[in-house]
Amino acid sequence: MATRKRSRRTGHRKSSGAQPLRGLPGHAAKRRSAAPSAPFEQWRAILSRALCAREPEQEVLAAVQSAMEHLDATLAANIPPKPLDCERGCHFCCHTHVSVTPLETFAMLDYMDACMEPADRDAAVSRILALCEDIRGKGHREIYEMRRVTACAFLREEGCQNYPARPIICRSWHCVNRTYCQMALTGDDSDAVIENFPARLDYGEQMQRGMLCALEEQGIESGLVISTKALGKMLRTGDWRRAFRAWLSGDHVFSR
Ligand code: SF4
Ligand code: SF4
Repeated sequence: MATRKRSRRTGHRKSSGAQPLRGLPGHAAKRRSAAPSAPFEQWRAILSRALCAREPEQEVLAAVQSAMEHLDATLAANIPPKPLDCERGCHFCCHTHVSVTPLETFAMLDYMDACMEPADRDAAVSRILALCEDIRGKGHREIYEMRRVTACAFLREEGCQNYPARPIICRSWHCVNRTYCQMALTGDDSDAVIENFPARLDYGEQMQRGMLCALEEQGIESGLVISTKALGKMLRTGDWRRAFRAWLSGDHVFSR
């Protein structure tokens, strides 16, 4: 999941600033000087405000983008005790279908429309719909086991085509030795242990949980969905923005 591209998206809220990560050594002084802010509560509050806006569509998309930038800044500011092995061109971990919130699904669709070249977008849509056929009717485990033949629809030779809008798990996932990642993908043991730092993953998960909680509190369909399935479902509506508005109004567009 490690590639580097610059976002062409403009007009987002300023990121809310990097936070220290609990569980990584060497950051005690920073933790004392920074205003403590639990990511769950912080992102629950930010998303709640966006959902209550007069025109929530843009506010919600801006809040999600802000969350992504905040997570990137927080991870970059908290240097792990062992160097990570993630770098451009390494993408064993992209041979999967990640779990995302509905929010991240709409953020990816927005990015595809606003920032991808039309031909790239159309090709990505075709791959998403084809993958949806491949995994139709299958559960999480079966889909996971298929990943050698079904990489993420956004994975291209040059890296992630969706990099500026990639989901939270793609930002927080990491490893100290890519051999583990390669073994998990191509070796006999698809459950090979990937050595990483749980604090980094936990921070993104808490942000996600806070935002999912805000959705639940507002009576909006919440929970995690498989990215490929969710994207395909919204694309098949023919007008994902209409589905987005219906979802914000309480319609269960992902589970119906
Ligand atoms: S080292 Fe592993 S987690 Fe990191 S980018 Fe490569 S495959 Fe992904
Ligand atoms: S969106 Fe897909 S290709 Fe991009 S980083 Fe995530 S898994 Fe990899």
